[in-house]
Amino acid sequence: MPANILLVEDEPAIQELIAFNLTQAGHHVLRASTAEAALTLVKNALPDLVLLDWMLPGISGIEVAKRLRADERTRHVPIIMLTARSDEQDKIAGLETGADDYITKPFSPRELLARIKAVLRRRAPQMTDDTVEIRGLKLDPVTHRVSGAESPIDLGPTEFRLLHFFMTHPERVHSRSQLLDQVWGDHVFVEERTVDVHIRRLRSALEPSGHDALIQTVRGTGYRFSTQG
Ligand code: CA
Repeated sequence: MPANILLVEDEPAIQELIAFNLTQAGHHVLRASTAEAALTLVKNALPDLVLLDWMLPGISGIEVAKRLRADERTRHVPIIMLTARSDEQDKIAGLETGADDYITKPFSPRELLARIKAVLRRRAPQMTDDTVEIRGLKLDPVTHRVSGAESPIDLGPTEFRLLHFFMTHPERVHSRSQLLDQVWGDHVFVEERTVDVHIRRLRSALEPSGHDALIQTVRGTGYRFSTQG
């Protein structure tokens, strides 16, 4: 499950090493050496996960975590704090700011990758490889196959990601800008109207098996994937 990971680390050697290991594991890595640079990158596109160094020059990693959690748009981005401190009090402080996990330097690449996987599984189920099935609509992220009532459904890549996101976040209303962030990874350079175009395509692909009704328009707000009429 390749993810877009924002790595915020001011020590060049450590940044290089972590980025190398993440890339080797198939992840796409965006790098920042300061909190300011990290916040600018997040403004442009939401990462799937943030690896955040505690000790940064200027604004600290803790402060970045607090800001991400305080903003509606970035509230749900998973955060793993990286730190040289192993003090239990510091660990508690880190988790209290809203970090999902905490890893103490030095750590092995294997441990880091395992933590990333665990956090993504918990916080971003659309990033995992688990097959999802709702009301006879089945989606397999590994084979990229979708079927409705046992019949194969042919979807374009964007419709596939959109459906995967919906099925892993059912019964919630998503605004167009949230969908752009979550499915396209970008809410700045893509027009909100684009979402409607892909929703239309997705619905028409789901129509033969009757699953199009699962994608509901919530007037004035956005869209919801729901099994409740
Ligand atoms: Ca540092």
